[in-house]
Amino acid sequence: MAHSFTPAPIVYVSRKETFSASHRLFNPQLSQEENEFLFGKCTNPNGHGHNYRVKITLRGKQDHKTSMVMHLGKLTKHLKSVIDPLDHKNLDLDIPHFKNVISTTENVSIYIWKEMQKLLPTGVLYEVKVSSTDKNSFTYRGESQGDHQG
Ligand SMILES: [Zn+2]
Repeated sequence: MAHSFTPAPIVYVSRKETFSASHRLFNPQLSQEENEFLFGKCTNPNGHGHNYRVKITLRGKQDHKTSMVMHLGKLTKHLKSVIDPLDHKNLDLDIPHFKNVISTTENVSIYIWKEMQKLLPTGVLYEVKVSSTDKNSFTYRGESQGDHQG
């Protein structure tokens, strides 16, 4: 008797949350002139702020009992536990991760990915997307390539 094989549908589930924070783009290994050349007004010594929008996407099979990939309340709780500590903070001064990591939105998206990975079942996190303005967004999917520069 052969089993009939029904492939399980793969569904993508997303949740958006926001936080507000200040920061400054500055590489301490470079001179003030080089920082100004590379980062422009984003290296202003007293910093500036953003209303960050974060969109998390999970990818997975439906649970047998609930038909959900993950309960949205649970996903929201995990996401808020990662981004609430960033809210109304200075990323560079208040968040230890950014003491030695430049707080570009690229690095903010990687940070959120790593923190979410600690909370979610293995293999379910698909994408972290962070917007710091209406015109820009930064997407991290856990991919790496070549040498890491820090
Ligand atoms: Zn900025």
